Amino acid sequence: MQTQKTLGIIKPDAVEKSHIGEILDRIEKNGLCIIAMKMKTLSQAEAAEFYDIHKERPFFNDLVSFMSSGPVVIMALEGVDAVHRYRQIMGATNPQNAAPGTIRADFAESIDHNAVHGSDSTETAARELKFFFNEDEICPRLVTQDRH
Ligand code: GDP
Repeated sequence: MQTQKTLGIIKPDAVEKSHIGEILDRIEKNGLCIIAMKMKTLSQAEAAEFYDIHKERPFFNDLVSFMSSGPVVIMALEGVDAVHRYRQIMGATNPQNAAPGTIRADFAESIDHNAVHGSDSTETAARELKFFFNEDEICPRLVTQDRH
């Protein structure tokens, strides 16, 4: 298994409910390293560009409004099989289908207010990391073994 980087976001609903600490704890306890992090409120234009792939979907406008409705925490994560591992920690997009113990099962209330984002492939991760972070903002750590 390869060391990878992925992009995670703690969405406005989870920030508003003060779940930042618990979510970061789950990420770290599951063997992923936080190698960059920033908190900001996205503009509508930034949110629309980030979710450009969904622009034809009926929920796009609601998604953009929600993602720019308050501060988010944007994280670069690193670890063995990080893309898939973080998706597993997050749980299914619809919290009603999310496995027990996942972030979305425990902190999300609905499919449109679902607490976290995570890149869905290494290609997406590379694009999303570049969207939010400059090279010099990322502090990679050598992960030499699976800490799971
Ligand atoms: P993710 O990778 O699990 O976040 O899911 P997607 O990339 O498919 O969708 C991006 C985000 O759009 C999701 O996290 C949801 O917040 C939202 N979304 C996806 N599908 C739906 C839907 O059918 N209805 C609504 N209202 N929102 C959706």
